[in-house]
Amino acid sequence: MAELRERPHPPGRYGLIVVGSGPGGLQLTYSLRRLGVPHAAISEDPAPGGMFRRWPVFQRMLSWTKPYTGFERGSREYERYDWNSLLGEDEASRSIMPRVMDGTSYFPSRPEMERGLVDFAESTGVRVRYECRWESTRRDGDDFVLTTSDGEYRAPAVVFAVGVAQPWRPSIPGLEQAPHYGELRPVETYADRRVFIVGKQNSGFEIASGLLPWARQIVLASPSPTRLSVETHSLVGVRARYVQPFEDHVLAGGVLVLDVSIEAVERAGEGFRVRTRMPADDRALAFEVDDVIAATGFVAPLRDLPGLGVATFGQNKVPAQTHFWESATVPGVYFAGTLSQGSPGIRKHGIPSNSGAVQGHRYNARVLARHLAATRFGRVAPRPHVAGQGLVDLLLAEATFGPELWHQRSYLARVVLAGGEGLVDEGVVPLAHFVDSDGPDGVGIVLESNGKDDLYPVAYVRREGKVSEHLMPPHPLHDYRGEGYRGQLASALGHLVSPSLTKASP
Ligand SMILES: Cc1cc2nc3c(=O)[nH]c(=O)nc-3n(C[C@H](O)[C@H](O)[C@H](O)COP(=O)(O)OP(=O)(O)OC[C@H]3O[C@@H](n4cnc5c(N)ncnc54)[C@H](O)[C@@H]3O)c2cc1C
Repeated sequence: MAELRERPHPPGRYGLIVVGSGPGGLQLTYSLRRLGVPHAAISEDPAPGGMFRRWPVFQRMLSWTKPYTGFERGSREYERYDWNSLLGEDEASRSIMPRVMDGTSYFPSRPEMERGLVDFAESTGVRVRYECRWESTRRDGDDFVLTTSDGEYRAPAVVFAVGVAQPWRPSIPGLEQAPHYGELRPVETYADRRVFIVGKQNSGFEIASGLLPWARQIVLASPSPTRLSVETHSLVGVRARYVQPFEDHVLAGGVLVLDVSIEAVERAGEGFRVRTRMPADDRALAFEVDDVIAATGFVAPLRDLPGLGVATFGQNKVPAQTHFWESATVPGVYFAGTLSQGSPGIRKHGIPSNSGAVQGHRYNARVLARHLAATRFGRVAPRPHVAGQGLVDLLLAEATFGPELWHQRSYLARVVLAGGEGLVDEGVVPLAHFVDSDGPDGVGIVLESNGKDDLYPVAYVRREGKVSEHLMPPHPLHDYRGEGYRGQLASALGHLVSPSLTKASP
């Protein structure tokens, strides 16, 4: 831990500043360093881990890491099954999570996740100035000036990876008396009590699941109906891990899951009275309970950034962003980690990206590092040539095994462009950038979910500025390398696989 205790990056002027040492900040600062991009990294935490230093409250992740998959740990193929490890480039820093898990669950415990993040920081030598709090922000010419607990930092570009973990409560009269998610008491203190949980997202269901063996009655209530991830075929909705209270409700076991508006929380003797209204018939319903818990969500701790012009949207105040995670309204301000969900992509079939979770934002950070290196530091990563006859195989192998495509469906694409020199591998790029830009002819391959069927690959082919979509069918084993796929893709690619664009790799 000696390296972690040392305090690098003193206040001063830098080319770039990264704020935050959760998984988002760690992945970004590591990827920047690999690309040789000098920058300062600061965090108010005393050590790596971010939100996972204390949450989830029931001390187990909702994202899994499968220890045994048939693929070697550390390989790109393995990443598809390991949602929690950060992305290292060498053996010591790859696939860390299965090494720290004790085998009792494929959902790491919170301490295992924290351990994995600390191990990543130690094995990669990521340098962060801990216990340095960003307090305010101003402009000075082309620079942003960050006032921190240690002094002033200046840079023309700043990446905020400050998470979305600040408790938020809606303005329901009396709800301010209720503890928020993170203020839950030890579970045994809820024994034989009636508990009213405001909020029916994962955090509400996590608490209800944890209180099932303790509480006498649990009411989960909010206006919108509960959706389940197994129904939406995406991370939208309550995760299967927390669905038990829902089954208890539908089988009439004592839990109530209600679609009601909550009008007031009032003190009633030792407990509370919660006044609700059923929208279906405008009927008032009141609940006498012992405890009320606000599982009402979180906001981003953006401090004075909105005052600087950073536009945000939604209840959790996520900043509006470009395809490369730059503030849509204040150039030079970028976001990483779970905040990168503010760059929505094309939202095909209405399904959002997985940027809110580690499995998605770890790839965004790597793409952002490459983008910042190229656009702000003139360090353009080499683009290997692709032989025309190898293009179909490359794209179908990516659809079958590429972890970026698996975790960020219809969001990150593997792109190959045609240039004067033949075909060039652009690597992983935001799909929205590829379809919106006027670049040369090329192809981007993605995996797509439509909310009901199995996944399937889609090739976006750009020719003379026009992009066409080519959907391929699902495969029961998700293996898209067979003859049928090869034929379909080759015909979609047309001129891109013609001999004139073919050039062997040097
Ligand atoms: C209750 C809950 C459970 C979740 N469970 C999962 C899960 O199981 N799996 C999953 O993939 N995702 C989960 N998520 C989503 C999760 O938030 C992200 O995947 C991940 O933790 C976010 O990483 P991050 O680095 O963006 O932010 P965080 O982990 O929140 O880290 C933010 C960092 O910013 C720093 N910071 C903040 N403000 C300042 C400041 N003013 N000055 C200096 N530093 C500052 C903090 O110190 C911290 O280091 C969960 C979210 C919540 C709210």
